[in-house]
Amino acid sequence: MGSIVAIVGRPNVGKSTLFNRLIQRREAIVDAVSGVTRDRNYGKTEWNGRTFSVIDTGGYVVGSDDIFEVEIDKQVELAIDEADAIIFMVDVESGVTGMDEAVTNLLRRVKKPIFLVVNKVDTAIRQNDASEFYSLGLGEYHTISSISGSGTGELLDAIVEALPAIEEKEEEEIPRFAVVGRPNAGKSSFINALIGEDRYIVTDIAGTTRDSLDTKYNRFGFDFNLVDTAGIRKKSKVSEDLEFYSVMRSVRAIENSDVCILLIDATRGFEGQDQSIFWLAEKNKKGIVVLVNKWDLVEKETNTTKEFEAMIRRETAPFTDVPIIFISALTKQRIFKAIETAVEVYENRKQKISTSKLNDTMLDIVKQNPPPAHKGKYVKVKYCMQLPSPTPQFVFYANLPQYVKDPYKRYVENKMREIYNFTGVPIVIHFRKK
Ligand code: GDP
Ligand code: GDP
Repeated sequence: MGSIVAIVGRPNVGKSTLFNRLIQRREAIVDAVSGVTRDRNYGKTEWNGRTFSVIDTGGYVVGSDDIFEVEIDKQVELAIDEADAIIFMVDVESGVTGMDEAVTNLLRRVKKPIFLVVNKVDTAIRQNDASEFYSLGLGEYHTISSISGSGTGELLDAIVEALPAIEEKEEEEIPRFAVVGRPNAGKSSFINALIGEDRYIVTDIAGTTRDSLDTKYNRFGFDFNLVDTAGIRKKSKVSEDLEFYSVMRSVRAIENSDVCILLIDATRGFEGQDQSIFWLAEKNKKGIVVLVNKWDLVEKETNTTKEFEAMIRRETAPFTDVPIIFISALTKQRIFKAIETAVEVYENRKQKISTSKLNDTMLDIVKQNPPPAHKGKYVKVKYCMQLPSPTPQFVFYANLPQYVKDPYKRYVENKMREIYNFTGVPIVIHFRKK
């Protein structure tokens, strides 16, 4: 279960500078593989062996005073609802401002760990200046310089310490589905069509450390958990007009799921928000099923379905091996197909391929079409294996792994997808030294 840390604060205190620092650390160490990063305000970081998500809630706030009240309210509301810990950033250059006090007031009722972070403490003198932030009444603070990075190590130590312990998920062999999508895509209608008026509930398992709620259902002969989503829980009082807020509302549901069922509104196409949620799921290595909903409203000609599908595949390239199903939550068309496919994707994501089988199939392919030589040196792959990770990852051991570039990895991935069934599942290919 992933933990989420949100950064709040008024504009220009340095939130995105810190965010970028946290995320780059991770991109360099953990995420050399993926290639696609399309979210500016969400990312993963790793510290002391603990991985967590970071949200820069200020991504879309424009620095003008009159819109500030509304925007800061949304920011803080998002952080309070979705995060496990909150970084509240202030700026030593400007000292305590009325806006800082407003944020403090919003945060007062919050039970989650809050880290007051005084930024731009680039010098020893500013270290002393920082003491004026005691007046906010939030107690101890951390001083950092986001630009140089000083102080951020201590801050991260404290944050990681305060995050909820990683729950040992009981190895229940039941898929966890998150139904995600933009507002009005039809999430509640789909869930309703799927499970009716809660008649198929098997148990309620209240989240232990937080307010998440997983509900176990049996429908069409399949057991599955539906992860709490915006569609099920009470509609937030905060409007979700801004794409950013709407997308960030699905972070927790996505992180807690095995397979994301992404609903899109056929009458609107596959737009920015749909894409952002798609990549969020991909980045978290979750299974994905795309449901094109409201298909009853679309006037169909011979190639309408094909064209719609091709359009989505263009937008999601290179990850195109994803099921796309045309449904109507209203008429219940293909609801069974949707859930059956989600279960298949879950199985695909769980599969383990034995080392001998993998070498039998993949080594031949790699030998017949080896990575391009680099400065006259040939890359020789010795053997390959699947890692014991929760989502499919494969290592190819080679003499010169540093010469293997992304296009070749994609070639290997595509070959694997031809041979094995990884439909709907992001897979990761590593080349390592042997
Ligand atoms: P945001 O609006 O809160 O996301 O703030 P930004 O990250 O965009 O930073 C606002 C300005 O403060 C930029 O000009 C940054 O270069 C500057 N800044 C951020 N962190 C520091 C720091 O640690 N020290 C100094 N001196 N400037 C900083
Ligand atoms: P949510 O915000 O994603 O939970 O979306 P809702 O389930 O509340 O649906 C938004 C609107 O779209 C409602 O007016 C639904 O009746 C309508 N709607 C949902 N699914 C369909 C569908 O398959 N066909 C049609 N025609 N309308 C739908």
